[in-house]
Order: sequence, then C-alpha cells, then structure tokens
Amino acid sequence: MGPKIARTIGRGGKHRGMMDLDDMVMQDRPGVKLTEFADLSGYSWFRLAGRARLLAVIEDDHALSNFLIGLPDEMPMEVLGLGSNVIIRDGGIPGVVIKLGRGFRFLERREANRIRVGAGCLDAQVARFAEAESLAGFEFLSTIPGSIGGAAMMNAGAHGGAFHDRLVHLEAVDRHGQFITLRPDQIGASYRQTNIEQGLLVTGALLQGEPADQDEVSRRMARFQEERRQSQPSREKTGGSTFKNPKEAKAWQLIDEAGCRGLLHDGVRVSQKHCNFLINENATRANAIEELGEMVREKVYATSGVSLEWEIRRLGALA
Ligand SMILES: Cc1cc2nc3c(=O)[nH]c(=O)nc-3n(C[C@H](O)[C@H](O)[C@H](O)COP(=O)(O)OP(=O)(O)OC[C@H]3O[C@@H](n4cnc5c(N)ncnc54)[C@H](O)[C@@H]3O)c2cc1C
Repeated sequence: MGPKIARTIGRGGKHRGMMDLDDMVMQDRPGVKLTEFADLSGYSWFRLAGRARLLAVIEDDHALSNFLIGLPDEMPMEVLGLGSNVIIRDGGIPGVVIKLGRGFRFLERREANRIRVGAGCLDAQVARFAEAESLAGFEFLSTIPGSIGGAAMMNAGAHGGAFHDRLVHLEAVDRHGQFITLRPDQIGASYRQTNIEQGLLVTGALLQGEPADQDEVSRRMARFQEERRQSQPSREKTGGSTFKNPKEAKAWQLIDEAGCRGLLHDGVRVSQKHCNFLINENATRANAIEELGEMVREKVYATSGVSLEWEIRRLGALA
C-alpha cells in the first residue's frame, strides 16, 4: 500500500514547540493517514469535541507498530474507539490521536469454542458473529454501542455480563511499538475499569464462548435489546452512563434524589428517561457536558454524602 498522508489545516495554525509533529507529517508512512488539527466532533457520541493536533488513522498492526516506534516518548497520545464513552474537551488533544482502521476488524472462529476479534470491531458485530457460530456468552455486547478496544479498556458490561469475564487474552502494541499479549491476571479488571496502562493500544482479543442453541442465543439478544429500548434513551447525543454505580446505591437514584433529573446547563441536559445519562441537546461547547456533570456531582454529594466517580473518560485540555 502506498503512503497516504492527508494534510488538513484547520483553525489554530501551527504551534511553536510542536516541531516533532511537523516532522512526522512530512514522512511517508504506509498504512497511516494523518490529518493535522482534525475536528474530533464526529468521533465522539456527544458530537461535540475539540481538535486533535494530529489524527492518525492506522490500517493494521504492522503500520501501528512502525508508527509508535517513530513516536517520540514525550508526545501526548490518545486512542479513540467509537467515542461512546468520552468527552473530548474544547481545548482538544495537543498530541496524536490514534484511530484503528480496517485491518483491526477481523472476526475469527477458533478451536475450543473461542473467537478472536479485532479491537476495531463493533461490540454488536461480535455478538452477531457469536450468534451465527452458536456460541453463548456475548449476547450482552449486542446492546453496547462501542468497539472491542473500548470494551477491553473499560471492562464494558451489561445484563450481568462483562467483557473481561470472557477474556482468554488481549493482543496489544505498547508505546514503543512492541507486540504483547496480556493475560487476565495482568489486567486487573473490575467494575468498569482495568489496570491496562495508558499508552497501550489494544489490537485484538481472544474470547471464550459456550456452545449453545442458536435460537436461545437469538432470543436472549432480542430480550436484552428490548430491555435496553425501554430503559435508556436511544439515538441521543450521549456518552451513556456518566458515573459509575457506587457501592451504596445506583448512580441514577442518587442523581434523581438530588433533584437533577432534567437539569439543563448550556444546551446539555440530564436525561429525563435515565438520569445517569447526559444529553447534548444543542450545546456549542464540549466543556458544558463536563460542567453539568460536576454540578450533578456537587448536588449528589450535598444530598447523600456520596462522591460520584466519573465513568466517562474526559480527554484533552479544557481550553
Ligand atoms: C447509549 C449508550 C449506552 C451505553 N451502554 C453501556 C453499557 O450498557 N455498558 C457499558 O459498559 N458501557 C456502556 N456505554 C459506554 C460505552 O459504550 C462503553 O464504555 C464502550 O466500551 C466504549 O467503547 P468505545 O469504542 O466507544 O470507546 P471510546 O469511548 O472511544 O474510548 C473509551 C476509552 O477506551 C480507550 N480505548 C478505546 N479503544 C482503545 C484501544 N484500541 N486500545 C486502548 N484503549 C482504547 C480510550 O482511550 C478511552 O479511554 C454506553 C454508551 C452509550 C452512548
């Protein structure tokens, strides 16, 4: 594949002290498409975001490894999946944002009822693939609107299932471009979090399924999807659950009791249907989402004494 370099100069202009990035843009990098000052609003479910100094869409794991080998250690780097669990602040990301391309969307049946899936696959694609293979254990993924990379990082879960319950191992590339494999005991997964170190890029996963009757798998998926339609807003500009459920109670209950259901701040609203969701109605600033979240945290603390912990990842600079 020939080099693909797109140069899109947006607002902001060139920045002193970022010569390394300028140099990087000038180099030929097969399998890597670079965009300078990239608008990330299309990469976040909130449809509002700052810019990335450099967006790199990378086609396969060898291109990824080569790219990381050439990336200076001090260069800030973030990776985005489908952006369904992030706020990208208005100040944007001062370094490189990596998006995984087509070569990370593989789905393979393996022996012993296992599947190997690419980090760029949608969770729902993996659920449908397992269904077609008559494998149970992945039905919960059909209701989560992220990618496998995001699910691995966040230990995504629903309907009693969680990503890392199914994990045999993760495939990843580290910040220096080395290919590595991580076993579950090296990941430390717990409720909506892992100890996967910042800077590690998940590229794929080997997952364990259970042989099952295909109709049963299909029925379970349909039931989960119906439950989801009843309980959560769909087709909204949201990041899903804003806060983790604390030990004491459900986050949505605490938010409701604090009188925050429907609360509006600068175009962002606490959902009427599920008050742990924040909805971008007509905001013009990504920071307004985080501001509303902080207002909710303060009110919940004042009424219940519980300090809610953000589940949504907040990336980049405020301004
Ligand atoms: C309507 C709605 C419903 C939701 N319901 C649920 C639910 O039921 N259960 C649940 O757990 N979540 C839910 N979420 C949240 C979200 O879908 C999950 O957390 C999902 O796993 C995030 O995946 P993503 O690809 O969108 O990741 P992103 O939002 O793009 O990123 C999330 C984090 O993962 C990191 N990341 C992404 N890809 C990689 C990679 N390849 N390597 C390393 N790090 C990576 C990012 O840097 C970031 O820190 C919901 C969200 C929405 C909008």
